[in-house]
Amino acid sequence: MSTGYDTLTSVEDLIGRLNVCAERKVTQSADPDRVLFSLGFPYPVATTNEQLAALEPFYIDLLQNIEEQNDNNILSRLDKSDDDAILLLYAFTFPLLVLMARKDISGNAQCYVDEAYEIPDIAERIVSNKQLITWCRTCMTEQERHIISVISGAACILSNVNPLQQILSKSKAKKRIRRQLFQGKGDNVGFRDLRKDLAGVVSRDDITSTVMVHVVLCQLHVLTSLHGDKNAILVLTKAAHKGEFDRALIRVKADLDPNLFRFLRMTIFGTSTPKEEIAKLVNYRPTNREPCQPKFVCSRDGCHQPGQHRCSRCKLVGYCSKECQVFCWSEHKMNCKKSSVNTKKVEAATKAARRAPDPALLQQDRHLMNNPGYEYVILLPDHKMLGVQIENEMSKTIFKLFRLMAPNKPGAVNCLYTLLSTMHPDLSEKIGKQLMAEYGVDPTSDFAKNSELPKVNLEAMIESIRGTHYNVDLDSGMMTFDRYL
Ligand SMILES: [Zn+2]
Ligand SMILES: [Zn+2]
Repeated sequence: MSTGYDTLTSVEDLIGRLNVCAERKVTQSADPDRVLFSLGFPYPVATTNEQLAALEPFYIDLLQNIEEQNDNNILSRLDKSDDDAILLLYAFTFPLLVLMARKDISGNAQCYVDEAYEIPDIAERIVSNKQLITWCRTCMTEQERHIISVISGAACILSNVNPLQQILSKSKAKKRIRRQLFQGKGDNVGFRDLRKDLAGVVSRDDITSTVMVHVVLCQLHVLTSLHGDKNAILVLTKAAHKGEFDRALIRVKADLDPNLFRFLRMTIFGTSTPKEEIAKLVNYRPTNREPCQPKFVCSRDGCHQPGQHRCSRCKLVGYCSKECQVFCWSEHKMNCKKSSVNTKKVEAATKAARRAPDPALLQQDRHLMNNPGYEYVILLPDHKMLGVQIENEMSKTIFKLFRLMAPNKPGAVNCLYTLLSTMHPDLSEKIGKQLMAEYGVDPTSDFAKNSELPKVNLEAMIESIRGTHYNVDLDSGMMTFDRYL
């Protein structure tokens, strides 16, 4: 599935896309999966090993970069603004989301891809980066300053620290939890403070089901690594702040799978539940799918042997033998060398990202192509969609005209918003955010409201869009245009 961008290969590519996503206000659309799409990542649940392998040079570059102790370190961008922070966090959470989807840790994601994964090294390096963990922890402490997507990304990273313990050595994970998550405090005080901060997060007005899941999993996984499966829930149920968690859980209940809701509720309120039942819940798997087992595969093209010998320099790729490593070295050494951000390359990558078709608009066009008969598709959480149909032929044509003008006319984006939110008033907030992601303009802003539409002869416009000039097929409802031509 093409996202409109080529596969990321370097930190410069990423920074270029971050710049363009910030320009297009992509972060304002709340669904993390869709922001990932805007950066050029595939959907985590649909990501194949082939796509992961293509991203390998990028992650080698990124992970080498975050371990550099200087200004070139991309993590130093995280403090600049919430926009930058959330976009960058998505790049870090992507491999974790793929892992979660394949292992179904959260119960939120059912993976469509039935392949063993090859990215545990990448995931491990992300959740074991001290600077990143500390940044995520601070995000919880000072949560009132951050938009909920930033907290969601941070909670996702923290909630993965322990499930990856099959890969991390357990004592290493424990040490990391004490140092970074507990900020140097003892286990009891450290955990009490973490829980207090997480309770602050779930008490926010803008809490979403995704954040709720990550927050509960985070404390469960932290406790599991400290106390073992059986005792973890018992400690949780005794802890303070139960009320805040329960109220928040009720608020997001409608968006949760019923089994997942039950699991989270038990985690908060499991005191009267028998111990064996609790132990089963800790290992709860909401789908029938067996989780994939981690598999290290030799990085040499066409070699399918286990690749347990890691490259000693970057530690991110594995080979079955010395022979395969030697064979691959001339190509791998280009990715394996130390990362250093090059300003000229960033400028070039920004330009390239700006020229590429807007992923959000491409996505809308693809939905319309696959669903002829609809004039617009409203994206709902959990990959659900609502097709908008317009009965009246004239209204349909006018709607198409507004869509056609919208890439260049903020006034038309406002008109689309007015029409769509009149038809679906309960979804007006979602519609506003989606249009903002697609056109980079807030349709409810005074700027959009006061932008005039060109005074045109409607008949002439209808005639012109029938011509070849705009390449519009009125029958299928499909339109193609390129705002950057
Ligand atoms: Zn290497
Ligand atoms: Zn091999």
